[in-house]
Amino acid sequence: MDEMTPEQEDFWNLLRYNLDELYLKSSNNVEEVKNHEFSGCFCCISVFSLNEISFPLSGPNYIFCPRCGVDAVLPGITNRRILEMLYKKIF
Ligand SMILES: [Zn+2]
Repeated sequence: MDEMTPEQEDFWNLLRYNLDELYLKSSNNVEEVKNHEFSGCFCCISVFSLNEISFPLSGPNYIFCPRCGVDAVLPGITNRRILEMLYKKIF
């Protein structure tokens, strides 16, 4: 199969993710974040790799963004357009 263009990839990503469901992934997400090489933050619209994230040893089951410190980390979401859409919806 040919590789998708960025536009096609965006299209499929937008179809696949419902923003409300996506928002739920920013909590109770420690295990899921660990399973993805890259994750994204919909507060500062950044994408970072697993080894940049500090995982809580105890306490709440969510991840703080290594860039902006907000608990707006979405496991495996690296598409900036999706992050921006969620930012506009939530903030
Ligand atoms: Zn951030």
